[in-house]
Amino acid sequence: MKNSAIPGAIFALLLSAVLGALIGWASQGWLGWAVFSAGLLWQLFYHLRHFVLLERWSRQPGLTTRLQGTGAWDEVLARLYRHERALKQEIGEARHNANMYVAAGQALIDGLLSLDPAGHIEWCNATAEEMLGLNRRTDLGQPLVNLVRHPEFVRHYHQGDYSRPFSMPSPADESRVLSLHIVIYGGKRRLVQIRDITQSRRLDEMRRDFVANVSHELRTPLTVLSGFIETLDGLDLDAQERQYYLKLMAEQSTRMQRLLDELLVLSNLESSPPPPVTERVNMTEMAAKILRDAQALSAGRHRISLENEGAGDLLGSEPEIASALSNLASNAVRYTPEGGEIRLFWQVNGNGARFTVEDNGIGIDAKYLPRLTERFYRVDRSRSRETGGTGLGLSIVKHALYRHQAHLEIESVPGKGSRFTACFPPGRVVS
Ligand code: ADP
Repeated sequence: MKNSAIPGAIFALLLSAVLGALIGWASQGWLGWAVFSAGLLWQLFYHLRHFVLLERWSRQPGLTTRLQGTGAWDEVLARLYRHERALKQEIGEARHNANMYVAAGQALIDGLLSLDPAGHIEWCNATAEEMLGLNRRTDLGQPLVNLVRHPEFVRHYHQGDYSRPFSMPSPADESRVLSLHIVIYGGKRRLVQIRDITQSRRLDEMRRDFVANVSHELRTPLTVLSGFIETLDGLDLDAQERQYYLKLMAEQSTRMQRLLDELLVLSNLESSPPPPVTERVNMTEMAAKILRDAQALSAGRHRISLENEGAGDLLGSEPEIASALSNLASNAVRYTPEGGEIRLFWQVNGNGARFTVEDNGIGIDAKYLPRLTERFYRVDRSRSRETGGTGLGLSIVKHALYRHQAHLEIESVPGKGSRFTACFPPGRVVS
């Protein structure tokens, strides 16, 4: 036995017995027993002393000073001391690792919740707490289905097929949609991963609406066109009538063309890299061109003017800025009855720059203003169509401005007129 203390202890006992026997045999009297008893007593005292030492230390094992004994005990105590120290170190490391896992779980963007085999909440991170409206102080140890009572979720939980995530409104906020994915681990324990999918749901809805809208917008002129083709094909028309139908057909195809062009502009705005911050756009020229285009579109039906206040240009993409500002001007022409007045302003000062289009046209009820920049949103669908509108104009304006850190302000009074202002921050303006 390597480094064993036992042979030493047995040797000491045997030594006192052999010594006692030898002396007893030599003296033929009580002296042998006395030596033997003294040896045993000494052994008893020696072991008792170390036992007391060990007993005291075991109550509160101190690891700062080495546990020291003598003789055979020294080795035993040293080994005990080493074991205790290694164990403490292992426990320390395990605790540190566990704390790191808990901290990682807390840092997750997703909610995380662990359940014991009976379905009681063992642990959850702050995100899960907030998403499910739980309170860690009072809800730990409670069955999850007592706290999240959505009937479909409770069914999903009990039915046990967790291959797909489950979606439901957040119990803390009905407007948020959560996806809960349950995973079984460590036998019968469950881990619930919670994600906020409100945004992706909204995007899905928007995508669906968008496809439905585009299909609808294209189907109308296509139906009209195919009707005219049948008419031209089936009826015996004179040259004037043919001319009339061909003109209507051309109008419908122009409408489809415009819609596709604007869809393309929107898609470019969404997918192209951010506009440059170094390219200078000559705004005096651009404002003058927007004025000319508006006058051409109005064809003398409106009084249109332009005023410049302060000199300055913009930094950014020329076609994007032009598209945004000319949309505002063409809307003013289209939604202002004949004889109305349209005023354009280009203003530059220390706070940035503003391009304003003011009209005294039909105006817009305040309740419609928040939705005006949504794709295909129109206050009056038939009026928009009559004037060649696609319902995408203000959406393009919003996107193009957003890409230049600019925003759109809208003020309007029904029957009195509207004011649309594109506001650019100082960082986009050069004087
Ligand atoms: P549209 O192609 O229909 O004009 P827009 O996105 O440009 O689409 O505008 C959305 C809606 O906002 C229009 O259908 C119209 O109802 C309203 N609108 C826009 N500009 C004006 C304006 N100057 N005066 C009154 N209504 C306006």
